Amino acid sequence: MSTPLTPHTRDDDAGARLIEPLYQEILRRNVGETEFHQAVREVLETLGPVLTKRPELVDARIVERVCEPERQLIFRVPWSDDAGGIHVNRGFRVEFNSSLGPYKGGLRFHPSVNLGIVKFLGFEQIFKNALTGMPIGGGKGGSDFDPKGRSDAEVMRFCQSFMTELHRHLGEYTDVPAGDIGVGGREIGYLFGQYKRITNRYESGVLTGKGVGWGGAQARTEATGYGCVMFTDEMLRVRGQDLDRRRVVVSGSGNVALYATEKAQQLGATVVACSDSGGYVVDEKGIDLDLLKEIKETGRGRVADYAERRGRDAHFVAGRGPWEVPCDVALPCATQNELTAEDAAVLVRNGVQAVAEGANMPTTPEAVRVFQEAGVAFAPGKAANAGGVATSALEMQQNASRDSWTFAHTEERLAEIMRHIHDTSHETAARYGAPGNYVVGANIAGFELVAEAMLAQGLI
Ligand code: GLU
Repeated sequence: MSTPLTPHTRDDDAGARLIEPLYQEILRRNVGETEFHQAVREVLETLGPVLTKRPELVDARIVERVCEPERQLIFRVPWSDDAGGIHVNRGFRVEFNSSLGPYKGGLRFHPSVNLGIVKFLGFEQIFKNALTGMPIGGGKGGSDFDPKGRSDAEVMRFCQSFMTELHRHLGEYTDVPAGDIGVGGREIGYLFGQYKRITNRYESGVLTGKGVGWGGAQARTEATGYGCVMFTDEMLRVRGQDLDRRRVVVSGSGNVALYATEKAQQLGATVVACSDSGGYVVDEKGIDLDLLKEIKETGRGRVADYAERRGRDAHFVAGRGPWEVPCDVALPCATQNELTAEDAAVLVRNGVQAVAEGANMPTTPEAVRVFQEAGVAFAPGKAANAGGVATSALEMQQNASRDSWTFAHTEERLAEIMRHIHDTSHETAARYGAPGNYVVGANIAGFELVAEAMLAQGLI
């Protein structure tokens, strides 16, 4: 048994009462998958009012079906290092829901990856992808392979071995992976090359995040971080504010964090801190993005190196998260459960106005409550970080029509999509009696789109 759910709605809500037993059954059938439990719980807690209003969804057992992946693949990935030593990793692909389109979602290469993590990410992806309004289902994959400290040749051999198994499950109309933590342009290149070689097909639409010279979309690299800041800007506008001259703290310094920083700076904000697993750096004059990109993208270095190279303007704090740095806007862009209730309390005490998740589920449920109770505008990842996968869908669209768009056009489409996600989440929250609650709005809006398609497609 775990602690009971805390529905976002009234106790007399008939739908909310149905949800607790469903959740207990999920705990029983998915033992030890704590991140998956957390992701399911965060969605179920908000669904009471939909189930009250729409008993046909209860009769069709849509919640039970949505929480069970359509297919779960686990496979061996053997590879050899540069010294000839043999390694065995585990590969995963969870094909969660294809009611809106082919399975779509990234691959994560990180030592923490296990089935529970991939299922949490895949589950989030279903609703995130639905919210984009694009024709993409939900899936996720990855491996417990640790690319840190590995040579390009080792990473290539790992990617080739991974794809040698996975290719049989993929296809532009079946399942379309992309990047996530530990998987960027270099890895997508190696994976695509191996897929092409095995299948003898130049199937551009089978992977997204490709290089712009060989089928990739302009602005895909920037899209998750840019989209997160665009969403933040929309949230602030509703409150009659904007990002101009705001102090922003970003966690992480990977792809999402770098481009969230870039867009925040373009909109007039000062990004004063960012981090990695070693600690955080504070730069009161504002992060020098060219220097940070050089260290992170080219050199695969650490933020401690940034502080050293930047000199007197910046200082590095080892072994701590960046949330103690006072700011108006906080953008957690690193990894799951990185922002706790204690961090949230510090941020609130320091006057934070808005928080948007650039990573997947970086804020613990207790921290989300702290923000909501303090009246801080809070954007959950499935809404705020959907710009990445939305631009992946734009990449698929360009691949299908053998076309390529300009950066400006792609960014404009991204901005439209982020506005659409914001407005849909905002309106849905109000319609279901939780005005301003983007968690409720995003969950219900995403769920309804998927539920509708599943009802229409029969017992699947
Ligand atoms: N990994 C990203 C996400 O969490 C992008 C997935 C994609 O582009 O398919 O949404």
